[in-house]
Amino acid sequence: MRVAQVIVDIAAREINTPFDYLVPDGIGDVGVGSCVLVDFAHRPAVAYVVGIANDSEYPDLKPLQAVLGGPYFDERAARVARWIADEYVCPLSEAVKLFTPPGGTPKAVRIGNDADMPTWTLKRPGVGPVDDRWAWLEPSGADFSPRANATTQRAVIDALAEGPVRVAELTADLGSVDGALRTLSRAGVVCVERRRRLRETNLRAKEAPRHKRLSAGQTAALKAIASPESTGRVVVLDGVTGSGKTEVYLRAIEDALASGGTACVLVPEISLTPQTVGRFRSRFGEDVAVLHSRLTPGERYDQWDHIRSGDARIVVGARSALFAPLRDLRLIVIDEEHESSYKQGSAPRYHARDVAAQLAAEHGATLVLGSASPSMETRYRCDKGEWIRCEMPERITGHDLPPVTVVDLAEEFARGNRSMFSKPLSDALLATRSRGEKAVLFLNRRGFASFLLCRECGFVPMCDSCSTSMTYHETVNRLVCHHCGAHRPVPAECPTCKSPYLRQFGAGTQRVETELAALVGDWPIVRMDADTTRGKGAHEKNLVQFETLETGVLLGTQMIAKGLDYPEVTLVGVISADVTLNLPDFRAGERTYQLLEQVAGRAGRGANPGVVVIQTYWPDHPALRAVESHTPSLFYDQESVLRASLGYPPFGRLANILIRGRDKAHVAAAAADTAAAITARCEDGWALLGPSPAPLSRLKGVWRWHLLLKAPADSCFSVALAEAVATVKKRNDVSVVVDVDPVDLL
Ligand code: ADP
Ligand code: ZN
Ligand code: ZN
Repeated sequence: MRVAQVIVDIAAREINTPFDYLVPDGIGDVGVGSCVLVDFAHRPAVAYVVGIANDSEYPDLKPLQAVLGGPYFDERAARVARWIADEYVCPLSEAVKLFTPPGGTPKAVRIGNDADMPTWTLKRPGVGPVDDRWAWLEPSGADFSPRANATTQRAVIDALAEGPVRVAELTADLGSVDGALRTLSRAGVVCVERRRRLRETNLRAKEAPRHKRLSAGQTAALKAIASPESTGRVVVLDGVTGSGKTEVYLRAIEDALASGGTACVLVPEISLTPQTVGRFRSRFGEDVAVLHSRLTPGERYDQWDHIRSGDARIVVGARSALFAPLRDLRLIVIDEEHESSYKQGSAPRYHARDVAAQLAAEHGATLVLGSASPSMETRYRCDKGEWIRCEMPERITGHDLPPVTVVDLAEEFARGNRSMFSKPLSDALLATRSRGEKAVLFLNRRGFASFLLCRECGFVPMCDSCSTSMTYHETVNRLVCHHCGAHRPVPAECPTCKSPYLRQFGAGTQRVETELAALVGDWPIVRMDADTTRGKGAHEKNLVQFETLETGVLLGTQMIAKGLDYPEVTLVGVISADVTLNLPDFRAGERTYQLLEQVAGRAGRGANPGVVVIQTYWPDHPALRAVESHTPSLFYDQESVLRASLGYPPFGRLANILIRGRDKAHVAAAAADTAAAITARCEDGWALLGPSPAPLSRLKGVWRWHLLLKAPADSCFSVALAEAVATVKKRNDVSVVVDVDPVDLL
């Protein structure tokens, strides 16, 4: 007896275990990763096989009804899916589906409205492979004559007599020809070859010359990655901008391929530009598949299938590329590992870094985390000796990192400068212009959550117990802390300097562009923000426009910082570091530090030295002092003390529980119920904050409340949270979302 353990594709936390079904004879190939049709609670359902056994503890098993597709994944993937479901408190079906082809799985859909007699139908996936397998006759097989009863073989040979024909066409004319083709090609009569035209992914290859001589830092990094000690483990590449981390990734991939393995490279979605992908394409050509959200479903499916067939042995993509069906995975690279986009913002809310570490352990692969400003979490694991740290402190060019000037905007204000551009920044811009070089200006995205800032001294109201800035709520004219819910009235004047200039903060790119144009005259300006980069290829067009300029300035939000590698840029300016610095989130300082480090690294990458000018009201914030003096420890040490004293990650663990709905009273009631259910399960040392309105307390007509669970660093609270949420009374219009190890607390 063969028993299939299946996960039914119904997203509900209640059916979070596999169910046993009998594998009937003659149903076809069924294994782990197969997609099957089952009868579940008197309705047909699509399910995924996660295990095969010889018996079951349950009597009278129902048989599988059909095999619909697959196998899509293997036992290791099934184990990682289980881990994801447990860790991130999500339905197992959602975790398993991460590993299935994008847009390529069937669904059971209910048709008709008869409540007593529902009928169901199977909806086939909208996308599938474009089969471009071709078959043709080999000259050497000309005198082959099939056995008398092999009619299909005969028909195939006749059909091919005229020349090559697509297998799909043969199938349409003759029915299934796979068996016949297999026999004929084994006999050397027919040749079948994939000439699959992958749907165009529109990628421009950028040359990535193979550097013959590696720097000392690169050699040491490769040695650490190749060491047997790194098998199944995590190597952290802590390398300054321009230290040549990409070449390390490329060489490590070469090694993985040479040993018969495959590799997966994650880059932040935002930097998945043709420039980045081109570096991998130019080294590995067609071996590279690309997966990200800007591909059409068809394109994504093709890439996935290209990987599954074994034709592509390298995947470059956003976080979901982790789930690509690579066989013999040897290497996973996560570039810019500190990026918050590696955490998925919708269910299942996994963190790619932690899932990758699980995958690496399962496969005996090595996970390489690269960054010029590693996350606090990653540094913590290195400090504890769990992960292996490898430093690359020098730039490849041998040049020093560019000098950074931090300009105090309060001082500028005191001098009567009411413009957005301080004297040092406008001087630097005009100098770059007269030298005929290029500049990049960053404007942090205007925060949704407004905060108040004193224009004379830079004071920002903070919460005393959470060390995060308080958010200004215009309608009630109050300041609110979104971690703990504390609130107070808006002071009439600045508490430190008594100035009346306590104002809301922020300006959009358009306004900056106008002021910039007034400053630099007819110097070309390329503006890049959410508005100018909408639509396929727009991002790239903007960059090409800047690239082809002789001289000029690129003005954009931080989205343009990543992966930007233009050697001719000699000035990088930051209009204001304060927007990210004052986000109502305990990671605001860390984000700012990482962003500034990243941005500053865009200057002086070529032969000409560069300079960096950063404007802020908070010049002595550790993040700014660290960037200014190229001394990361100035930030990290102080931040560690602060986080440890408040029990924030990595010195503690958090879970954010978000309660959403259109009816305010229902949301509040559900939040109270959830709080009670969690409190009942709290262990020693856990603390539950809230319920309080989330920083974005109302989004598109939906009310949002949240609870924040704080626990010691080694706590496992997922089971308790899953149980607690399961006991909360269901309200149709309210949803309760658990976000474990949240990155976004807004
Ligand atoms: P990072 O990602 O660490 O900021 P990059 O990988 O972008 O740095 O490398 C910076 C520059 O140095 C790139 O232009 C790259 O082509 C070049 N480079 C990398 N390795 C070498 C090497 N061994 N010899 C010469 N140039 C190199
Ligand atoms: Zn003040
Ligand atoms: Zn607070």
